[in-house]
This record gives sequence, C-alpha cells and structure tokens, in this order.
Amino acid sequence: MIDFEMPTPVSRQVQFIGMLGEQVMRPRARYYDDHEGERPVEYTSLIWQTVRAQGGRNFSADTSERLDRDGRPRPRIGYLMLAHMVEALSWGDAGMYLATPGAGLGGAAVDATGTPEQKERFLRRFGEGEPKWSAMAMTEPHAGSDTAAIRTRARLSDDGREWILDGEKIFVTSGAMAARDSAGFVVVWATLDPSAGRAAIKPFVVEAGTPGMLVTKLEHKHGIRASDTAAIIFQHCRIPRENLLGSEEISDGRSSGGKGFAGAMRTFDATRPLVAASAIGIARASLEFTITYLRQRGVTIRYDVPLHRQTAIERDLRQMEAQHRAAWLLVLRAVTAMDAGQDNALEASMSKVKAGQVATFIAQKAVELLGPEGYSCTLLLEKWMRDARINDIYEGTGQINRLIVARRLLGYSSRELR
Ligand SMILES: Cc1cc2nc3c(=O)[nH]c(=O)nc-3n(C[C@H](O)[C@H](O)[C@H](O)COP(=O)(O)OP(=O)(O)OC[C@H]3O[C@@H](n4cnc5c(N)ncnc54)[C@H](O)[C@@H]3O)c2cc1C
Repeated sequence: MIDFEMPTPVSRQVQFIGMLGEQVMRPRARYYDDHEGERPVEYTSLIWQTVRAQGGRNFSADTSERLDRDGRPRPRIGYLMLAHMVEALSWGDAGMYLATPGAGLGGAAVDATGTPEQKERFLRRFGEGEPKWSAMAMTEPHAGSDTAAIRTRARLSDDGREWILDGEKIFVTSGAMAARDSAGFVVVWATLDPSAGRAAIKPFVVEAGTPGMLVTKLEHKHGIRASDTAAIIFQHCRIPRENLLGSEEISDGRSSGGKGFAGAMRTFDATRPLVAASAIGIARASLEFTITYLRQRGVTIRYDVPLHRQTAIERDLRQMEAQHRAAWLLVLRAVTAMDAGQDNALEASMSKVKAGQVATFIAQKAVELLGPEGYSCTLLLEKWMRDARINDIYEGTGQINRLIVARRLLGYSSRELR
C-alpha cells in the first residue's frame, strides 16, 4: 500500500534541499549552462556534507532494517527518500544534481552486484574525506540500447592475479570526475568471452587514476551541461582480480544469485525511478514558473469552470498539472515497491517512460505559453526544455523502456519481443 503522506525525515530533507535549490543552484544554473565543463563547486562542496553524512549513498538507498520502539520493523523508506531528494535537487538544477558527489551510479551497480565484502570496500569511502564520484560505463560506440553487444574485453593476466581490460566506453556520466579527478571509481561492464553473450558480461571496479584508463573526450551537450559526460578508453588496464563484482562464473545470472548481467538489470530497477524523479523535478520547475508568471499577468486557472468554457491556456495548464501528478504517482509506486523488496522492473520502466515524456511535454509547453520570453535565455525555461530531453534517453531510451513494459505485461521474453 502506498502512503501518500511524506514521512517526517523525508520532509525535513526535502525542505533543506528546496533551500539549496533556491539559494545555491538556481542563481548559478545559467552560468554552468554557459560554461560547460566547469565543476559547480559551490554546489558540490555544500551537498557533499549531506551526502557524506548519509554514508555517500546518493543513488543507493540505505535499506538496513530499523525497528520501532516496540521492536517491530519500520517500513523502509530509503528509495522513497531518494526520489524526493532527486526531485527537489532537479527542481533546483538537473545538471548540477547529476554532478552530485557520492556513490552515484557506480555505487548502485556495486550495491546490486557486489559481495558484502566488496560493498564495504568500495562504498565506505563515500562516507568520509573529500568529495568523490563514481560512474557506470556500459555504453560503447556500437552498443547502446543493445547492452548485450558490448565488446570491452576482460582477460586474466598470466599469473591469474589481475584482470586486463581493453575497450572503449562513451557517454559516461561523471566519467571524468570518477576516473581522474577524485578518489572514486568507474564500474566498467566487460565481457569475459564474447561468444558467450550476456552470461559472460561482468562489472569491474576500476579505481580513479588506474594506469590504462584514459578520459579521451568530454561531450558538448544539448542540456544538463553542468554534468560531465566522458568518453573513456581502456588500454591494457590492469585491476586486481577481486575487483570483478560478484561471481566470475559464466552463467545466466540466476544461478549466480542475480549478479553479473542480471545485476545490471537490477541496477536499472533502482536507478530508473530516480531518473524519472529527476524528470519530475524539471517538470515541476517549469510548471510552477509558468503558473506564477501567467498569474502575475492576470491569467489564472478556473478549476470551477467546465472544460468547454475554459480558455486554451487554462486547458493546457490543467493538462500539464494532470500529467505531472500522474507521472509522480508512478515514481512513488516504483520506489515504494523497491523499498518493500518487491520486483519493481515493470514499475521502474513505466515511471521512466511516463516521466521522461511528461517532463519534455511540460517544459516545451511552458516555453510555448510564454512566447518569445519563454524562448529567451533571460529565463531558465528554455534551459529546462533542453535539460528535460535526456530523461528519455539515458538508462534505457523511451522505446526500450516501452518494450520492457510490453514484455512484462504480455509475458514475452526479450528474445520474443525486441
Ligand atoms: C548525456 C548522456 C549521459 C549518459 N550517461 C551514461 C552513463 O553514465 N553510462 C552509460 O553506460 N551510458 C550512458 N549514456 C548512454 C545512453 O544510455 C545511451 O545513449 C542509450 O542507452 C541509447 O543508446 P544509443 O545512444 O547507442 O542509441 P541506440 O541504441 O543506437 O538507439 C537509437 C534509437 O533507436 C531506438 N531503438 C534502439 N533499439 C530499439 C528497439 N529494439 N526497438 C525500438 N527502438 C529502438 C532507440 O530508442 C533510439 O531512439 C548516456 C547518454 C547521454 C546522452
């Protein structure tokens, strides 16, 4: 059952982040959009205090069991809390939010695929010291949606003590910060045997600064420009054997406890609702701004007037509001299932499809409703329109997530429906 009340610890966090969004992120949003590649240090050093205090878990929720005063387990709210935080940060600025230091996407992959010892070894660092980042590198020049086609190779060294990685990864979010500018790491997906398909694809932790891991390019992007997006090559990159996450066994994933490639899918179950939450943050920013702007010019929504007697603008605004609410409810459904330890693959993809589409629709409509001012760079609306677009691309495009929804609803396998 979903409880629509925001739990007190969540509302306290959201209040704090709302302030950060208003006072730190919004005033600098245009600057970092214009200066792509500069790190938003005012934001990253401030948010690091919060992230560090929570053990660095900005994408991987704390799901440890807590008991109430009577010794009964309290409902887990780790992912619910994260969704609210991501939404509120993205309301402030989605690009800066993506530059948040912490365990991030790489941490989510460690969480989904690592052994308890590996989780301790790789994640503990995010609760201490200076800001640090992690990243997850799956996409390659010839393998995006078709993740099973990746070619980056991992071979054992002659003495069997190290893995040697060779290959090229592109479009890695926070890739430069994770690979070279901090004490973080990149989780790299590579194959042990290209002839064995998905079963041989495994995640490897490559520590920042490891020789053979080279950042070759920073993307110049349409939106989310405060976030670094890197191309990274691996040339004879040697890492300790223990840095393969989970089991070395080449299997279908189920027999190795859901690790390996199945672990990549489990990572997405956790992160897709958070991408959706980020989209909702941009949608809310655009919607609130538009409503306030129009109200100041005498345009209000008359909720008590039937649709056929409303103006076109009123109808547009009501549709924007309804779509925004519907998409947010799907996000809450997906994170609540995650917190309850239920299989949420269907809800995760549904929330991402809907929120990705809704954010683009709302931001674009907002630009349209405000006319030339909406299109002008004096307001942030045109930027939010550009920022919104990414949510329908990374972590599985809209089309791919629709396929996942269809497979789940109709009972088809990925071989039967692709
Ligand atoms: C800013 C940014 C940040 C990113 N960050 C990361 C990251 O941190 N880590 C990472 O590994 N990757 C990252 N990516 C890569 C992203 O996940 C991929 O771009 C995405 O998965 C799509 O892959 P592709 O670009 O190869 O497109 P393709 O797979 O070539 O798809 C092209 C088009 O065809 C459609 N299509 C493909 N297959 C099908 C199908 N079976 N049915 C219907 N339509 C289909 C797609 O939906 C898309 O519209 C990032 C990308 C961007 C732009």
